[in-house]
Amino acid sequence: MAENSGIEWCHHTYNPWIGCTKISAACDNCYAEAWDRRGMQQKASRWGPHATRTRTKTRPNVRKWDRKAAELGIRYRVFCASLADIADNHRSIDPVWRRDLVSDIRAFQNLDFLLLTKRPQNVAKLYPDLMEDWPANAWMGVSTENREEMLRRGEVLATLPASITFWSAEPLVEDLGVIPREIMPSWVITGGESGAQYRPADPDWFRSIRDQCKAADVPFLFKQWEGKNQKEIKAKGRALDGVIHDGYPAGRAA
Ligand code: SF4
Repeated sequence: MAENSGIEWCHHTYNPWIGCTKISAACDNCYAEAWDRRGMQQKASRWGPHATRTRTKTRPNVRKWDRKAAELGIRYRVFCASLADIADNHRSIDPVWRRDLVSDIRAFQNLDFLLLTKRPQNVAKLYPDLMEDWPANAWMGVSTENREEMLRRGEVLATLPASITFWSAEPLVEDLGVIPREIMPSWVITGGESGAQYRPADPDWFRSIRDQCKAADVPFLFKQWEGKNQKEIKAKGRALDGVIHDGYPAGRAA
């Protein structure tokens, strides 16, 4: 599925900047920080409240993706961001970086930008131009790794004017329980944790989300079980006693 991304549900990833600060349980084993430190992309850390985020040079790629999608007559899903949080309000993030992101969203109409955050409470303040006139190709999502964050972030997400919303319940670290219908998004992604420190997940947690999505007519994606590495995860297969992926939000084909 993913052309330039290792993430099944998107074709590309777009990081306007890199770096972040851990904020909740889903961040405990942040793969982005581990990847960045491992690769030694730069000497100074970009992670934590005292570290400076840095700009990337990937912006020109967005134009190429858009052109390609137009040529093929399809839409590309662009995950934003895999190595940062788009609603991080760290002082080192130049407001111009955010304005450029919004400008790209508006300019490249063959792309759907999947904006994912663990800080939805910052979105209105950091992106006033989005709030004024929210483009249909900006999907807004929040991480919902446990019930507390599902309720807290899900409630804020439901107040934002995005026409397509989504949850990333990955890594899922506890049962979400009953999902209030009023905060149900347009799409739910779920998955277990990967990495040496992965936390075990109960298959019933995923089944419960899937069944509630079905009842609410919301597309559901089960991405993977938890495990130490991709080899171990793949060996577990993806069986979940039924549907593991039933499409994308209305109006947006796979
Ligand atoms: S919000 Fe995302 S990028 Fe930031 S520390 Fe948490 S998991 Fe990592």
